[in-house]
Amino acid sequence: MEASRLVVTSVTKSFSTAGEPLEVLSGVDLSLAAGQSVAIVGPSGSGKTTLLQILGTLDEPDSGEVQIAGEDPFSLGPTERAGFRNRHIGFVFQDHHLLPQLSVLDNVLIPALAAGRPDGETVSRAESLIESVGLGDRITHRPAELSGGQRERVAIARALVMEPDVILADEPTGNLDAKTASEVTALLRQLQSDRGVVLVAVTHSRALATAMDRCFELREGQLVRDAAFENVT
Ligand code: ADP
Ligand code: MG
Repeated sequence: MEASRLVVTSVTKSFSTAGEPLEVLSGVDLSLAAGQSVAIVGPSGSGKTTLLQILGTLDEPDSGEVQIAGEDPFSLGPTERAGFRNRHIGFVFQDHHLLPQLSVLDNVLIPALAAGRPDGETVSRAESLIESVGLGDRITHRPAELSGGQRERVAIARALVMEPDVILADEPTGNLDAKTASEVTALLRQLQSDRGVVLVAVTHSRALATAMDRCFELREGQLVRDAAFENVT
């Protein structure tokens, strides 16, 4: 059996407030093997972004454990952890954070720049990812010259360029019309499952949630299986 790429065990997280500490995550468990995808739904304020920040190693849990590709990123110091994040995790955000002055190719290469000047192999991989997301004829364009759906495709190519184990997506289709959203979702799913990458997508969209293998609702700080959102068609 394929070893799990992402294992979350009993993760808790509270924030200090003026009064009582606010417990946002109160024992989150999740285990995903290569190529699996999961949607996380829940009302605003339920802790979805907090969980994604922890999975992305950007914020530490108070207790519990996260393992990505068999390693505990929180056992690493800040510099090593940043390197680990860069090699193992790809991010796709709603507002995609593309740099306006850079071409599509250079935007996709941003994660590779952390390791120095990208080598020929990395540039070829970026070009082939840009082809895969259907933007082969837009490689020298700037983000302002692209539609919202095309920009999201650039963000997907960028998330994959370092060949990560895990992709984390926060409302990846939140700014797109329904048709474009479903095209971008299908593309993300296809690339992720073909490459054996784990995908965790936080969303309000039923359409996006039902496109994933499994769906959980974040309820009272824990992940609860939500079969109503799962793909039964
Ligand atoms: P969601 O993404 O599901 O809308 P969040 O994870 O952003 O929810 O937030 C969950 C709760 O934690 C909210 O009540 C929010 O106000 C609180 N929260 C998030 N980040 C912080 C922080 N850095 N300090 C204090 N409270 C926070
Ligand atoms: Mg959020």
